[in-house]
Amino acid sequence: MSDVNMKPDRAAWLKGPPAACNLPPTVPAGRPWRLVLLGPPGAGKGTQAELLSENLGACHLSTGDIFRAAKAAGQCGHSPAMVVALEAMRRGELVSDATVLDILRERTGCLRCRGGFLLDGFPRTVAQAQALQQLLDDQSVALHGVISYEIPVPQIVARLSGRRTCANCKAVFHVTARPPKVAGICDQCGGKLIQREDDRPESIRVRMEAYHKSTAPLIDYYARARLLIPISADGDPDEILQRTLTALRRLIPAAAG
Ligand code: AMP
Repeated sequence: MSDVNMKPDRAAWLKGPPAACNLPPTVPAGRPWRLVLLGPPGAGKGTQAELLSENLGACHLSTGDIFRAAKAAGQCGHSPAMVVALEAMRRGELVSDATVLDILRERTGCLRCRGGFLLDGFPRTVAQAQALQQLLDDQSVALHGVISYEIPVPQIVARLSGRRTCANCKAVFHVTARPPKVAGICDQCGGKLIQREDDRPESIRVRMEAYHKSTAPLIDYYARARLLIPISADGDPDEILQRTLTALRRLIPAAAG
């Protein structure tokens, strides 16, 4: 794969217009990758998105991170739709399609980005997937694939309850599988590691229900579109990354190095 190894700036994604990214995207040697990452909560999508972003140069576009950034910025200035969205998130429920799609439409520039994108947490429903297809068609941009991370249910709860996220830079750790060098402290920026509100047991249950009801049908949707790339999410993050890169190499040999 490429040796990009520099994370693109995500200001335009996290803050929306009129924010602009400080660093221009690195245009990858082969091609800009445009991928969707699917998987139940706890499959390690966020971690893989970070690792893939470092390897492929494509920007990690997480809709959950937009909501967390808005929450961290405080109540002041939240639109009424954002207040309702953050309430839904706190309970572990999905935010309405209308709100999520408004947020995505404001960020259409990120879908056109020269560096490509890794969509994480979007789409979450078939209606969102159809809207995404329309937006991409309007921009004359094609999706290369949809990576579906697969993991048995009993592993999910163990992963989620041990997950810790940096309050500052959002880097993701796990108390046993990916521990920080110093307990409770982020390796990357020295920020404090916290447990996401929606990683608590009562929210995990609601999120799993939302996944099975709304998001699992996307697997059929993308299989029918011949875009689905199933990947086992068993093992440590680097093994899963290598499995993913191998599958991408098979998909487009020249571009994946
Ligand atoms: P995530 O970090 O992707 O697990 O997202 C955290 C929370 O943000 C979810 O549990 C939802 O409440 C909300 N959210 C993020 N993305 C979406 C989406 N595409 N559709 C609906 N809700 C979303």
